[in-house]
Amino acid sequence: SDVGSQKDRVVTEEEWLEKWEMGNIGFHKEEGHPLLQKYLDVLLNGRSGLRIFFPLCGKAVEMKWLTDMGHSVVGVEISEQAVKEFFSEHSLPYCEEPVTEISGAKVFQSTSGNISLYCCSIYDLSSSIVGKFDGVWDRGALVAVNPCDRQRYASLMISLVEKNSSYLLVTVSYDPNKHKGPPFYVPESEIKSLFG
Ligand code: SAH
Repeated sequence: SDVGSQKDRVVTEEEWLEKWEMGNIGFHKEEGHPLLQKYLDVLLNGRSGLRIFFPLCGKAVEMKWLTDMGHSVVGVEISEQAVKEFFSEHSLPYCEEPVTEISGAKVFQSTSGNISLYCCSIYDLSSSIVGKFDGVWDRGALVAVNPCDRQRYASLMISLVEKNSSYLLVTVSYDPNKHKGPPFYVPESEIKSLFG
């Protein structure tokens, strides 16, 4: 668990926007993530009509899956291109509005009302803006956050969930000396100290 080589690495917002512009989005899974299917029962825990949060959502197709099951989804993503591609690839009509609390931010909402994607940095959100969630799908999110921002990210996520929420977290395990990330290697011990 020597993560020394990754701890100072920073990927800027501009670099993420550029990845989207260049189509350099190998992280996007057209067919959705098998682990969400596998652990769906853990996420839902028998409940219906949940509010589910997708941090650093990209254009994750799982957002569509969950709304098709009757849940509502809120995502946050800095790339407006990603957000627009999500709606157009699923042929979902949407409207866009400025977010009054966050300067420069916009929220894209499906006309049906059950998908809201905030286009801003996740660090601009708070529960007073987006409310609290019953479930979280964290794939390509904690592992995409710059190592120096992990504590801030985890504290924010904790502040955005209800008491009886479920949080599904997908991480990757590999030798951090062999790949600079993202995705970054986050050891299990660190996950425990971040989330308690
Ligand atoms: N969760 C998605 C995307 C993973 S890649 C999936 O599973 O496919 C990480 C995404 O986070 C990128 O789309 C990037 O543009 C976005 N991102 C990076 N930093 C961000 C930040 N501070 N706030 C919001 N989105 C961010």
